[in-house]
Amino acid sequence: MKIHEYQARELLENAGIAVPPAIVANNASEAKHAFDELAKRYGTKLAVVKAQVHAGGRGKGGGVKLVKSADACEEAAATILSKPLVTPQTTAEGVPVTKLLVAAGVDIAKEYYLGMAVDRKTGRPVLIGSSEGGMDIEEVAAKTPELIIREPLSAEAGLHAYQARKVAYAMGFTGQQVRLAGKIMHQLAKLFLQTDASLVEINPLVVTPATEEHPDGNVLAIDAKIEFDENAMFRQKALTDMHDPAEEPESERRAKRFNLSYIQLDGSIGCLVNGAGLAMATMDLIKLHGGEPANFLDVGGSATEEAVTEAFRIILDDPNVKGVLVNIFGGIAKCDTIANAIVAAAKQVGFEIPLVVRLEGTNVEPARKILDAAREQIPMLTTASDLADGAAKITDKIGVGTAV
Ligand code: GDP
Ligand code: MG
Repeated sequence: MKIHEYQARELLENAGIAVPPAIVANNASEAKHAFDELAKRYGTKLAVVKAQVHAGGRGKGGGVKLVKSADACEEAAATILSKPLVTPQTTAEGVPVTKLLVAAGVDIAKEYYLGMAVDRKTGRPVLIGSSEGGMDIEEVAAKTPELIIREPLSAEAGLHAYQARKVAYAMGFTGQQVRLAGKIMHQLAKLFLQTDASLVEINPLVVTPATEEHPDGNVLAIDAKIEFDENAMFRQKALTDMHDPAEEPESERRAKRFNLSYIQLDGSIGCLVNGAGLAMATMDLIKLHGGEPANFLDVGGSATEEAVTEAFRIILDDPNVKGVLVNIFGGIAKCDTIANAIVAAAKQVGFEIPLVVRLEGTNVEPARKILDAAREQIPMLTTASDLADGAAKITDKIGVGTAV
């Protein structure tokens, strides 16, 4: 589960990490007001207007603007809100922006990267740091991976003091910065573990120019990104309130209401499958036969007829879908439930595009009878004997099939 930057900043702040003050704005006049408010409360002369969307790379897409007056703030806000934001991490159409964060601007001496993730190889949390933080961190990781420092840690014991010092020195911090950055690493590791996060990123973590109070500069977080492990959300009730459904495609929201695991993709073959592994295999076979899946959809083992009917509706509402492949291996899921849902969907929405169905397993005989009885109602229906046959038939019917 992803959250917005303004929510992530709040969690960092509660964890004790220094974050510049900021105010959320829903329109340009609220943004103008926010600048005045920051100026009044903190003497802010420079502010940053930031699009609140779940995609990163906002700076590169014009979703982060530095402003020096309330009027400039209003204008920047209006510009950002006026069109979908396109960044290296969104589709070409971009994502709509409805919320902004107006943050007190910070003078930056240097930008660093600091994050925590789960290392899949070791199965342990890992602290990640780099002296080359900022908007090109992905390029740094690809071209000069030696500049990315990784320190695995124990999920039980957390980050040890020596590890924080080691990473701080390796990132190039000196003098007082080592203590300040080390403290942030501890707070970050604790936050990561306590919230069942799967990713926490501060990019950039910045060092400010030297002042009397901070002769080596202060260390601050000026961007924040957090993702949580959805499997742990049952014990993180307070965090689930931060979920913003508006950031998900409408189809995925509908699917969630029926407990369906659905992810929209950009191919042309809609897939309705039970079991995540079978769904992956089905997508692989579609690709092998020259097609592209339009979605990942696992209806699960206990799907009701109503949920499966909704699944068909969601698939058929996608204008990119030119054909549908149903691949059910009935274990706990029952083939007749799926067959009834196919008939219901045919009645309610109608199949005007090819539909290839492969059913096997529990209650397959009654399922075949249900489909046979409904043949006249569903002229687009073809049955398949196995998964490869199904993938070959559907790609063939929509004219993209290649010999395997
Ligand atoms: P992202 O592009 O979505 O990761 O958004 P960020 O919040 O990381 O902002 C992108 C870039 O804008 C940063 O790497 C900074 O260079 C710049 N930036 C953001 N906030 C400030 C600020 O308060 N002061 C200054 N000088 N630059 C900032
Ligand atoms: Mg950033």
